[in-house]
Amino acid sequence: MNRKRSLALFQKALELLPGGVNSPVRAFRAVGGDPLFFERGAGAYLYDVDGNAFLDYVGSWGPLILGHGHPEVVAALQKALHAGTSFGACTPAEVELAERIREALPGMERVRLTNSGTEATMSAIRVARAFTRRDTIIKFEGCYHGHADYLLVKAGSGVATLGLPDSPGVPAEFTRFTLALPFNDLAAVERALETRKGEIAAVIVEPVAGNMGCVPPRSDRGAPEKGFLEGLRELTRKHGALLIMDEVMTGFRVAYGGAQERFGVQGDLTTLGKIIGGGLPVGAYGGRQEIMSLVAPEGPVYQAGTLSGNPLTVTAGIATLRLLRQAGIYPELERRSTKLAEGLRQAAQKAGVAATVNQVGSMFTLFFTPQTVTNWDTAKTADTARFGGFFRAMLERGVYLPPSQFEAAFVSLAHTEEDIERTIAAAEASLGSLDEENRKEKRENRN
Ligand SMILES: *Cc1c(COP(=O)(O)O)cnc(C)c1O
Repeated sequence: MNRKRSLALFQKALELLPGGVNSPVRAFRAVGGDPLFFERGAGAYLYDVDGNAFLDYVGSWGPLILGHGHPEVVAALQKALHAGTSFGACTPAEVELAERIREALPGMERVRLTNSGTEATMSAIRVARAFTRRDTIIKFEGCYHGHADYLLVKAGSGVATLGLPDSPGVPAEFTRFTLALPFNDLAAVERALETRKGEIAAVIVEPVAGNMGCVPPRSDRGAPEKGFLEGLRELTRKHGALLIMDEVMTGFRVAYGGAQERFGVQGDLTTLGKIIGGGLPVGAYGGRQEIMSLVAPEGPVYQAGTLSGNPLTVTAGIATLRLLRQAGIYPELERRSTKLAEGLRQAAQKAGVAATVNQVGSMFTLFFTPQTVTNWDTAKTADTARFGGFFRAMLERGVYLPPSQFEAAFVSLAHTEEDIERTIAAAEASLGSLDEENRKEKRENRN
């Protein structure tokens, strides 16, 4: 594969941007090789500056559930663009987007739009602390909630990918009020709530974890214990703490109404991002009216944004949600994704590769471990060098996966039946050549 122009651009980028990138995982550090530079996306495909085409399972890390450049989203954006990119004032479209969000997630009685998921989780935690008049929050190991200081504790995503300790530059005092517990471990949550009685403001959770790779919440179907989300709901209620569902990734992804619709458990506060911006920068938080009434100007909890609710983002978001709301969309997405996950499982089996494929709706991860992956400790047992070899082998075959073992991959509505079949065939060939791929990498490293 010719990568000359990408390589030249990366050399130049290294002189201008830290690590050559504007967000860490993009640098391909965890999978070896240099990043590609893309110039165009269309449907399920990405095109790099050297003219190579790739089937895209990153989808801009989740937002592009319709694929790249959906004609209805593009048309709506073109119209909005000519009407003005930002007014920093009230617009009809932001009210419509909020209305659509609340219809999908009825727990979000009041909604505030932000410019990123990071801002959404920061703001949700601020209002949760104000409402409960408590300071400590519980998060889960391997879950990522954006890059706010006090949330970079045992965080997933890039922190996990690069194996970084909790970030330097964050004073220990700032994380004093953050407890990180194992995902899917209700007993640990119960113990923490008991021993720190009256101190826990909120439990924040990715209801389906996506930032340590895809890890579903333990379900109570056929099990003697409570499901993880059901248990969190009960425990937080009992102890007067709020439950924050961080659905930045899962909202409009695992169901139209997110994980809360899919699992039938409602949070007190919800954070959104990614899909609701249709590929433009966005975030949102919301919840019970009684809690959200604390947010300025209705209440004293300050939070603002120059470009919040800007017409372009909101327009792309509305166009996306309008398309997603049509009947049959999610079952179809689920069907194609299940076919892919099943195909990957069989491909690994055929190749004699120890692997676990986790899938919830159109989110999935192939973990290179024989263990069942239920939390960060089990995710970490994955052989990341093998994943790197698999990633590079798939790339050579024109399939672009997230460049990290600890990120979820996404199927979009633009992925056709043939695309899925082609991906499974590429996986069979790639898994079959893994040992060869890893020897090649070692040789290159030596040279
Ligand atoms: C992506 C993500 C965030 C952060 O959103 P940004 O827009 O990148 O700031 C927060 N929480 C979850 C669950 C995410 O997946």
